Amino acid sequence: MTDSSPFILDVSNCLRDSMPEQFRTVGNTPVRIGAEMIGVPEGTEVVVDGIITNLGGGVMVDATVTAPAQGECVRCLAGLNKELNIHVSAVFSGSDDFITGDDAEEGEDEVLEIVDNTVDITQAVIDEAVLSLPFNPSCENLGIDCHDSDTDVPEPDGVSGEEEKADPRWAALAEKFQNLDEK
Ligand SMILES: [Zn+2]
Repeated sequence: MTDSSPFILDVSNCLRDSMPEQFRTVGNTPVRIGAEMIGVPEGTEVVVDGIITNLGGGVMVDATVTAPAQGECVRCLAGLNKELNIHVSAVFSGSDDFITGDDAEEGEDEVLEIVDNTVDITQAVIDEAVLSLPFNPSCENLGIDCHDSDTDVPEPDGVSGEEEKADPRWAALAEKFQNLDEK
């Protein structure tokens, strides 16, 4: 694997063979993915799993993007770790007369293009991540008690003010972050 972006995919095999092609790329994201308060920092390793389908004159990319996102609680500013796991789907045109079908009527975004047998799903990933991540992330989003108990934050359902305990799932994730830092 080179240090090229995991979001730039080689579609030459798919174009030649006309067969759906599965792919998996792992690499560091060249840009920050996500919203202001929570996101995947630039340079973070991301995994992209998916399939490229030849549409005849174009390709469709269906991919799942997995990466650790980091943010801050909007209430208590505690660091938040969340696994970003999104699905993106994008169509790329390989020629001028490629028609994307009925979608064209809906005033969709401009059609993306295949350039030098590669496609770039970066923008699709960014768009989807912004939708997927909480706009105002807080401890509560992740199922943990907020550190800032002084403010009059409504009590989360089913929590009786017991000592805060990290969700084991996030503890495992936090451990992963530590390992990444040590590299
Ligand atoms: Zn908090």
